[in-house]
Amino acid sequence: MSGPSGPSGETTAPEAVTILGATGSIGRQTLDVLARHPQRYRVVGLTAGHRWRELAEHCLHWRPRYAALADEAGAELLRNHLREAGSDTEVLGGHQGVAQVAALDEADTVVAAIVGAAGVRPTLAAVEAGKKILLANKETLVVTGALFMDAVRRHGATLLPVDSEHNAIFQCLPREGVGPGVRRLLLTASGGPFLGWDRARLETVTPEQAVRHPNWDMGPKISVDSATLMNKGLEFIEACWLFDVPPARIDVVIHPQSVVHSMVEYLDGSVLAQMGTPDMRTPIACALSWPERIDSGAETLDFRTLAGLDFRAPDDAAFPCLGLARQAMETGGAATAVLNAANEEAVAAFLDRRLGFNGIAAVVQDTLAGLPAPDCADVDAVMNVDSEARVLARRLIKEWAC
Ligand code: NAD
Ligand code: MG
Repeated sequence: MSGPSGPSGETTAPEAVTILGATGSIGRQTLDVLARHPQRYRVVGLTAGHRWRELAEHCLHWRPRYAALADEAGAELLRNHLREAGSDTEVLGGHQGVAQVAALDEADTVVAAIVGAAGVRPTLAAVEAGKKILLANKETLVVTGALFMDAVRRHGATLLPVDSEHNAIFQCLPREGVGPGVRRLLLTASGGPFLGWDRARLETVTPEQAVRHPNWDMGPKISVDSATLMNKGLEFIEACWLFDVPPARIDVVIHPQSVVHSMVEYLDGSVLAQMGTPDMRTPIACALSWPERIDSGAETLDFRTLAGLDFRAPDDAAFPCLGLARQAMETGGAATAVLNAANEEAVAAFLDRRLGFNGIAAVVQDTLAGLPAPDCADVDAVMNVDSEARVLARRLIKEWAC
């Protein structure tokens, strides 16, 4: 396979890409973009958590040099299946195996698309290997914040945001990032499926309703986060770290149509917005090819039929998660790791029908209030705080269920 031509007409080798979380919503959409540019990209590593059959399908199609499944028993089944199918993909198992594939010598670019704090160690392994990281896994930044950004600098890794809001801000900022000319960043939020509902009505929400997002097709955890507005809270924290901006210079605005994906306001009053249809392949393709542009497969906006763009303030009383995230970021230390761990436990309990919708914010609030959040010197210390927060959150979930 020959690669694309460089500026002087020479043929360049295709960029070698690893996808962490290849079977998920972002992972599959990344593969869709890569499939449109076979001359430009090749896949060298694919990883997933548990569903080995889905990873097997991707491996047989993409023929990566390595694959890894976090679930050891599933990895053995995957290995046998691929061997019988005549594949020469080498299969690694367990969390160690996923971290190894994250740091492959052969890879230029690593798409970090594992969901939750499970992404922390593999994403950091890619950072420590100095890769170009396309970051979708926002929880990693929420949990490890300063340690993560410090590792990016020390290891010379390149960080490009895939989260649509952060990718939009990245596109609206000057090359050198946030400078003195920027007044504030404006994160847009669709408001999720329950926009306009009050707390009493939210009490009745079921998991089926919560995962049905009006504009975006996403994995179950981020869909629930979008419904509670915790997703915007996590993104608020993500933006503080990614763009090195204090919390007071980031605002959230509800924009139900999901056409404007976020904005940057400058001192002179100019506001730059990035717009597009709600399709994650746009930010994925933007980050993959930056600073060039490639086709993503996303439909273009049709301005002749666009009915209108609405903007309004979030309802903090009905959706307290955004305020809790802001509070955790202002507290500092490991408070954002506590917030994230409690939220992951509460969302899992909600999806299992062990906790009501309003219980998610309550569990996060009580976990934050019940645990000290010291500054952590390293990732092991942060992950200990994560574990402690999960123990407390599980106890609170049981109490809430009684
Ligand atoms: P998903 O649930 O669809 O997929 C998650 C992936 O992570 C799967 O491949 C799964 O196998 C893997 N995984 C789960 N647990 C694991 C573990 N313990 N070890 C290793 N791998 C594991 O999730 P998603 O919607 O694709 O979201 C992925 C990340 O991208 C999240 O952090 C989310 O917030 C972020 N994100 C997603 C979207 C979206 O549109 N889906 C948009 C912006 C940001
Ligand atoms: Mg987003």
